[in-house]
Amino acid sequence: MTKAFFLDRDGVINQERKDYVKKLDEFEIIDDIADAIKIIKSHGFLVIIITNQSAINRKLLSIEMLNKIHEKLKSHLKKNNTSIDKIYFCPHTPSEKCKCRKPKPGLIIQAINDFNIDISQSFMIGDSKTDIEAAKSAGCKGILLKKSQTLLEVVSDLFESEKR
Ligand SMILES: [Mg+2]
Ligand SMILES: [Zn+2]
Repeated sequence: MTKAFFLDRDGVINQERKDYVKKLDEFEIIDDIADAIKIIKSHGFLVIIITNQSAINRKLLSIEMLNKIHEKLKSHLKKNNTSIDKIYFCPHTPSEKCKCRKPKPGLIIQAINDFNIDISQSFMIGDSKTDIEAAKSAGCKGILLKKSQTLLEVVSDLFESEKR
């Protein structure tokens, strides 16, 4: 059955910005992301991004610009001979009380249905407690990325320890 790595975006794939990523040059992709994704894929997992983008409904970011930002990520990965399977985003602000903004598991559940994913064999990696809460609610293992760690380090460690 299909298994997946769900990845948070801001703070994991690209540098977090307190004032939101609103345009292309604010989207700074972290070094070695492509290598981390290659390792994940080599173990037979889908790679799916699950991201809160309340900047959209705060009217700071258009869907068109969000798509451009994600195209930048996809072309970066393509240049490095890898890819991701899907990006799911929540456009809502906390006050809208939607079912998709993390810590709610709505987007993960949607991905489970879309790709027929075995959640018990899947992981979510994020740099916020809300990512871990969403993972728990959805039923997969959550891994908190510490400020001092990169995705590549965490992924390398995870698969190394599986070998032992
Ligand atoms: Mg984050
Ligand atoms: Zn939402």
